[in-house]
Amino acid sequence: MTKKFDVIVIGAGPAGYHAAIRAAQLGLNAACIDKWVNKQGNPIYGGTCLNVGCIPSKSLLDTSHKYIEAKEDFGAIGIKSKGLDIDVPAMIAHKDDIVESLTKGIAGLMKSNGVTTYDGNAHLGAGRVVDVTLHDGSTETLEADSVVIATGSVSVEIPSCPLTGEIIVDSTGALQFQSVPKRLGIIGAGAIGLELGSVWNRLGSEVVVLEALEEFLPMADQQVAREAAKQFKKQAMDIRLGTKVTGSSVKGKKVTVTYTDMEGEKNEAFDRLIVAVGRKPYTENLLAPDSGVDLDERGFIYVNDLCLTNAPGVYAVGDVVRGPMLAHKGMEEGIMVVERIAGQKPLLDYDCIPSVIYTHPEVAWVGKTEQELKSSGDSYNVGSFPMAASGRAMAANDTTGFIKILADDKTDRILGVHMIGAHVSELIAEGVIAMEFGSCAEDLGLTMFAHPTLSEGLHEAALAVSGHAIHIANRKRKK
Ligand code: FAD
Ligand code: NAD
Repeated sequence: MTKKFDVIVIGAGPAGYHAAIRAAQLGLNAACIDKWVNKQGNPIYGGTCLNVGCIPSKSLLDTSHKYIEAKEDFGAIGIKSKGLDIDVPAMIAHKDDIVESLTKGIAGLMKSNGVTTYDGNAHLGAGRVVDVTLHDGSTETLEADSVVIATGSVSVEIPSCPLTGEIIVDSTGALQFQSVPKRLGIIGAGAIGLELGSVWNRLGSEVVVLEALEEFLPMADQQVAREAAKQFKKQAMDIRLGTKVTGSSVKGKKVTVTYTDMEGEKNEAFDRLIVAVGRKPYTENLLAPDSGVDLDERGFIYVNDLCLTNAPGVYAVGDVVRGPMLAHKGMEEGIMVVERIAGQKPLLDYDCIPSVIYTHPEVAWVGKTEQELKSSGDSYNVGSFPMAASGRAMAANDTTGFIKILADDKTDRILGVHMIGAHVSELIAEGVIAMEFGSCAEDLGLTMFAHPTLSEGLHEAALAVSGHAIHIANRKRKK
């Protein structure tokens, strides 16, 4: 017998579970289907983000940062940390505990909000009919007025470096190492390569990152990217740009990678190799030929600005559609879609999506970069503030980086905010709010910030746009 719902959400990653819970809050009869099972074979919600993405990687980043701080920086502030050691299996077990408790929390939230959950594979046919194959092999047929696809993404694999399960791994494998590899190779200097490279570098691996592009972090403001490259070099992360990996061979417990750079073909041996060359949309076994849902040329589900697919009443959100593959972008799309289904009229501002790379220093930005403004011919003013001039950063003995604001030359409206430094993953929210509210740099300058805080750096950068910063020498000054 077909079961009828107002909304069926396929996928319980951040995009899907936000959609399902918000739909239930709005009084819609909502179902959510997910096929993920954990190592023990139990169904589990939270998708990539909670199980093998944002949360576990941040757990390892936080632990390894505490370790390296204790090892290298505590002495300078009078803390003795003799006999310091890292217990890798305990670090991994702590990360697994966090994942378990958060994913159980999502299951609890679904239940308490009245979302009906199904554990298995969803297959979408014509007329918003969804066939579910449950993990025990039984099937159910569901139908809804609206369907939200949130099936996410998976790692890209490259033929030159097939995963071996132990020596050559993707990001998921790199979250499970039980010991510190002596030499660690990473293919790709994107967010994953830099974050996981940082984790194992801090714990003692000799890390070499092989990146095909000539430019480092091309999506970030290039002044920030240059500072990041300088800091990673200081940390002895060996990032090699313009390096194309062409092959690999595993012998015993070592992998030899073949690559070409400006000087020609080279080989390099590693104990472990992480392939971090991007992620691709995941739609395997999802769409019946008559579903009416089209894919674009890159395999993403084709949607309009409101996340509606070509099939009436079928929406798609998160990593499986265009736009940055970021958990918060998927969450907000999921919420926007179900609120529109419920008759509300929210819109998502794709120009105000924050990006963060959780290395140390952290890198964060929102809006346009300086190189984008230059190439579009926009005239703008720049205000920046070095963290070395922040009292709070000095007190914390962590003064790396700067905050930079780009504002329209005529209207003073903030066009972009770029940061590198400690805790900028938190500070960027202030830039996002300012941009979302259409603020001018002057508005931020007129706002009172608590002292002493790192966020005063944003205040000073805003004042610097018109030459009024107090704690730095201003190059130009307007009254
Ligand atoms: P997913 O999280 O991939 O979830 C999709 C869900 O759909 C899965 O649970 C899957 O089982 C289910 N599914 C798929 N097909 C079907 C089907 N046919 N039937 C039933 N269920 C199905 N982003 C950030 O914003 N910040 C970070 O710090 C960050 N760190 C990351 C670190 C790593 C190592 C990785 C790999 C990613 C990271 N990301 C980060 C990216 C983030 O994880 C993704 O953007 C986010 O998970 C996408 O959410 P989603 O809901 O669209 O898809
Ligand atoms: P990415 O696309 O950000 O970076 C992949 C890098 O690999 C690129 O710089 C690319 O030029 C390089 N590359 C591709 N093929 C190569 C080859 N054959 N040889 C050498 N280099 C090659 O992808 P990612 O780092 O794998 O991350 C995947 C997705 O997950 C991204 O969309 C990212 O936004 C998301 N993510 C976000 C965060 C965060 O928000 N902090 C953290 C991790 C992942």
